[in-house]
Amino acid sequence: MSCFENLGLHPHILEAIAETGYTQPTPIQQEAIPLALQGLDLRASAQTGTGKTAAFILPALHRLAATPPSKGVGPRILILVPTRELATQVAAQAKTYGKHLPHLKTLCMIGGVPYHAQKRLLQKPYDILIATPGRLIDYVERGTIKLSRVEMLILDEADRMLDMGFIEAVEHIADLTPENRQTLLFSATLSSHILKLSEHLMKEPREIFIEASQSHKNNIAQRLHYTDDLDHKNRLLDHILQASDVVSVIVFTSTKQHAGELVEQLHDAGHAVAALHGDMHQRQRSRTIDQLRKGFIRILVATDVAARGIDIPTISHVINFDLPRNIEDYVHRIGRTGRAGAKGVALSFAGHRESSLVQRIEKFTGQDIECVEIPGLEPKMRSSKKPAGSKRPFKQGHSSRRPESRGPRRYEERPRHSQQERRPKQEGSFFSQTESKRQDRPARPQQGKRPDGGAKKFSRVFNTTFSTPAPRKKREPVA
Ligand code: AMP
Repeated sequence: MSCFENLGLHPHILEAIAETGYTQPTPIQQEAIPLALQGLDLRASAQTGTGKTAAFILPALHRLAATPPSKGVGPRILILVPTRELATQVAAQAKTYGKHLPHLKTLCMIGGVPYHAQKRLLQKPYDILIATPGRLIDYVERGTIKLSRVEMLILDEADRMLDMGFIEAVEHIADLTPENRQTLLFSATLSSHILKLSEHLMKEPREIFIEASQSHKNNIAQRLHYTDDLDHKNRLLDHILQASDVVSVIVFTSTKQHAGELVEQLHDAGHAVAALHGDMHQRQRSRTIDQLRKGFIRILVATDVAARGIDIPTISHVINFDLPRNIEDYVHRIGRTGRAGAKGVALSFAGHRESSLVQRIEKFTGQDIECVEIPGLEPKMRSSKKPAGSKRPFKQGHSSRRPESRGPRRYEERPRHSQQERRPKQEGSFFSQTESKRQDRPARPQQGKRPDGGAKKFSRVFNTTFSTPAPRKKREPVA
């Protein structure tokens, strides 16, 4: 059995890892850390919620602990992320794993925060800088941040960072860092298109592609409800939110305006709910995430700003009230549940005209989405299409592509068991060792704690081909 001690990390970092309660590195950590410690460039991909952050933070901290800094000012480690929430979480992990490194200083520079407060922090020495590209460029152009000392450049959620909304900024930033830097790219979704775009940023990169084992893939149950119209979606949502196993949920909408409207509606119906979208002040956004984490709100209605990075173990459900236009976002959205080996449920609402989008999502993920109906809330129209050119056989009860004659699986009202009864027990996995630790985390007071479900060991596949590139669309940065 592999353990953190065998990875070659600095003793002060091992001490901090031990304090988190994690004893066994996850597969992405096992593979990425030794290569990163050798100073190699990496492009790494693994399922959401499987410990990617530590896979790049730990070798970055090791570098800081093991090698003296060069002369000059500015960060030695630069981590670029697409959203402010993710930046805050990555900074928190850097602080956790680096707590025994003397004088380690981590800074987080994100948009939406007053400049004067950030400028004060930038006047003192710091080692790690975690930033969203826009705010970083602001500071670089004002001469407040110098990037000439960067030893390691890390792109978290790399596919998003190299998407058209960000790529120019990222390339500009990379040009300002030394050529001999080490570059690491991490994401749950790395298409061959993204790999190509990243080529000029890297030197002979090693590729790591961790494929989730079947049991881990199944830790998020994916279901689909065909819907007739907005009113039908609202009635379904209302019904679903009444189930006692919905501990904490993120509902994704396609627009900020719709998120706001839905929040009002759910608030009027008596739910503890809040919105999260790009028009909100950063302080408000951070407070909302904190309230969700602490269980003060049960429902977060969000745009895709919440699709990546948010790591809150109590999120039991993700609901795609509107399907994402970008297929990769589906993977990131549903990855907000089923974190660290827990079980989660992802429900998607789709109009009848969206069946081809559903099929593209299934093709991208390689997983069928089970089509379900709730008695009394069935759609008036049934989606009976089998996709043109589909090669995979139709599986009864497991695919969204159900011929009308068989009909979707019907979900009867479930008895209201306690959480403990309904949740499957943890199986042996590297996550099981963290069980006692995670039970210490705050749970939703009204609903009680959510025990984690188990995940068997991941299987590993290396040098496999990456998924087909999705069409590249111009999108605005969501930070
Ligand atoms: P990430 O994919 O980095 O967002 O991590 C998902 C969750 O897994 C976070 O809550 C981490 O704290 C947790 N985690 C990271 N590494 C390990 C590990 N080796 N064992 C158990 N849990 C871990």
